[in-house]
Amino acid sequence: MARVRQARRCRAHRRDGQPCRCYAIVGGWTCRAHGGTLPRVRQKARERAFEAAAARTFGAYLRSPAYREYQDRAARVSDAPVLAAFAERLDRASR
Ligand SMILES: [Zn+2]
Repeated sequence: MARVRQARRCRAHRRDGQPCRCYAIVGGWTCRAHGGTLPRVRQKARERAFEAAAARTFGAYLRSPAYREYQDRAARVSDAPVLAAFAERLDRASR
């Protein structure tokens, strides 16, 4: 998974009340100094980053020519024989 440099900044505030402005950890909302190293926070951030990457990948696939080709092929395939065979099996089982 590529770790693209993200622009998200830490949401925490410094003791003087000013925003922290450090880079947040990947997938997280705070920097390392503001809880970004806690195991629970890191785990959640990993999960979020993974889900975001998966969503990007899947979205790209849905927009790709490969998916359009898959849709075209699927449209040409009929499920009638499958349904007929299934109906026949149900019929046999009920006898
Ligand atoms: Zn911070």
